[in-house]
Amino acid sequence: MSYGRIYNIERFTLHDGPGIRTTVFFKGCPLYCQWCSNPESQLAHKELSIIAENCTKCGRCIDVCTPHALSLESDGLVLDRERCNACGACVETCRTEALEVWGKDISTEELLSKIERDKPFYDKSGGGVTFSGGEVLAQMEFLVDILQACKKEGIATAIQTSCYAATQSLDPVIEHTDLIIADIKHMDSILHQRLTGVNNERILHNIKYIAEKHSALVVQLPLIPGINDTEENIAQEIRFISSLPHILGVSLIAYHQLGIQKYKRLGREYLLPHVQPPDKEYMEAKKRVFHNAGLPIVAFNG
Ligand code: SF4
Ligand code: SF4
Repeated sequence: MSYGRIYNIERFTLHDGPGIRTTVFFKGCPLYCQWCSNPESQLAHKELSIIAENCTKCGRCIDVCTPHALSLESDGLVLDRERCNACGACVETCRTEALEVWGKDISTEELLSKIERDKPFYDKSGGGVTFSGGEVLAQMEFLVDILQACKKEGIATAIQTSCYAATQSLDPVIEHTDLIIADIKHMDSILHQRLTGVNNERILHNIKYIAEKHSALVVQLPLIPGINDTEENIAQEIRFISSLPHILGVSLIAYHQLGIQKYKRLGREYLLPHVQPPDKEYMEAKKRVFHNAGLPIVAFNG
């Protein structure tokens, strides 16, 4: 039995693979994508988030915080993140749900029991479990253990991944995963580095490696207007994806700003407030480009 760190489990999800699924979100990611809609997934350590609009400034949380990480200032509750150890004592004492700790350590045994609850729905719908993030490959031992445990119980498995990991570590994941959904953020390695904090060489190499070994691979492309949707970048994506053997298709993900409030609650700055989410026509036009290039579009339950 091993332990991993997750930050959420969503039941009855429909867009993270075929059928009805449970999606488990791992915490911690080696990338730092500027458009990330789940900033609570990025750091590996547990962290406190403050929902300022729920805070009545009663001060109860300050009294229970032994490292003295909280204080009340004229504009509200202030957290010293250097001092906070995410113990959660303040969360327990707050009566207005203004505080939340992101991150929970869980054993494979406990996680499996949560996943198994909905097995009848997976079986009826052709669904299963999807491990997402954060980056699942950053907790390799835990990932392989829970994949194996699910397979043993007859539960279909999928992962969503940036593919940023050592290539030699991928084989056991490939062996126990029924569907791999792999992201490409940008084809230009220098821009990739600027936008995500890492270059794309290892990622493209690993996608190729997986495609050569695995018959159920979907390449997922987040479309961020003005950032990675130029004709040149899309043409390069098409060339690269077309060169891969055995892929199921391409999934296009529209940029959105639904996670923007979470940045504020975690005391972080959102770097792309000026980027407008694309409309339906934009997405349909992009789908046609990939379709016309002979690449099937995959839309899970859509
Ligand atoms: S206990 Fe809750 S409502 Fe009171 S100051 Fe702390 S966060 Fe605000
Ligand atoms: S999580 Fe713990 S350390 Fe952090 S502010 Fe709350 S009580 Fe203090």
